Amino acid sequence: MATFIDLVSDTATQPSSGMRAFMAQAAVGDEQKQEDPTVNALQDRVAALLGKEAALYLPSATMANEIAVKVHTQPGDKVILDETSHIVTSEAGGPAVLSGVTLHPLRGIRGVFLAEQVEGAIGREGPHYPPARLVSVEQTANLGGGTVWPIERLRAVVDVARRHRLRTHMDGARLMNAAVASGVPAHEHARGFDTVTLCLTKGLGCPVGALLAGDRALIKDARRYKHLFGGAMRQAGIIAAAGLYALDHNVDRLAEDHTNAKILARGLAEIRGIRIEVEHVETNIVFFDVAGLGITAKDAVERLREQGVRMGATGHTQIRAVTHLDVSQADVERAAEIAQKVLGKAKAKTPGAG
Ligand SMILES: *Cc1c(COP(=O)(O)O)cnc(C)c1O
Repeated sequence: MATFIDLVSDTATQPSSGMRAFMAQAAVGDEQKQEDPTVNALQDRVAALLGKEAALYLPSATMANEIAVKVHTQPGDKVILDETSHIVTSEAGGPAVLSGVTLHPLRGIRGVFLAEQVEGAIGREGPHYPPARLVSVEQTANLGGGTVWPIERLRAVVDVARRHRLRTHMDGARLMNAAVASGVPAHEHARGFDTVTLCLTKGLGCPVGALLAGDRALIKDARRYKHLFGGAMRQAGIIAAAGLYALDHNVDRLAEDHTNAKILARGLAEIRGIRIEVEHVETNIVFFDVAGLGITAKDAVERLREQGVRMGATGHTQIRAVTHLDVSQADVERAAEIAQKVLGKAKAKTPGAG
């Protein structure tokens, strides 16, 4: 079926036949009344996985993050987070529209910032200043290149937040990638964070869904905003079942995606003119720069596409490739070969000639 090797995103995964079969037989009920046994089972399972009292099943990780911002803040409050974070770049201005908050983006290194930067961003108290209320980290840092926040960095952020009475949120859309790559369980990454988002549609391979975890009182508030934002569902067990299946079958295998990302990165590094830091590939995301080829990312992506490899242009000369459960080692080896063929020649061409 795969005529393309699709490396645009790990959201490209199709539900497997095993997942579909499991979904088809799921017990269901009215999720809004908290009577869907499969949704309830998934929420309990994810709460335990993340070391929190409760979790809430939601249609998307975007909604999970936006509800987190909503439960932690009042209009006018300030949220401190990395400038590359999904909440800043990819949630359609949600924090401003839905919560009326001010964002204070930090310039981290590959999506990871220091506790000292948080301290510096808190600012003074007084009638002129937006009150700092929330600090958010992204584990792994997507646009940082799938970077894994080291545990001690996370702890330092939690510590500084506690000292200044800030709430803490972890956008753990790819937290399971971080857990597998680091060998440190997810609940240790999540320790001390008031709320944690987990996305089911990335490497975990579900067709829909995400969860927000936290203590019971916060999740009770979150449930209200789930209704308010239009995210409450009915017989949602049919889709939540995919989450239970994914947690049984698609977590340990994330290590394969990480190995494949490194294989791809090494293959790309052989192309003269491509700039790539192979050692920065920690999980399933590979960034590289084609400026040295004298072409734009758009041109390079088009050439790859003509040969059946899809990647995403994320900047003028920057490209992102993401591995996932629907691409094999043979696929990434082939993708690297194709890149060597079609981009290896790029240098000989005059820019704009083709
Ligand atoms: C994909 C992603 C989200 C949003 O997930 P959706 O379920 O597609 O809304 C949030 N945060 C990060 C870091 C992501 O990569």
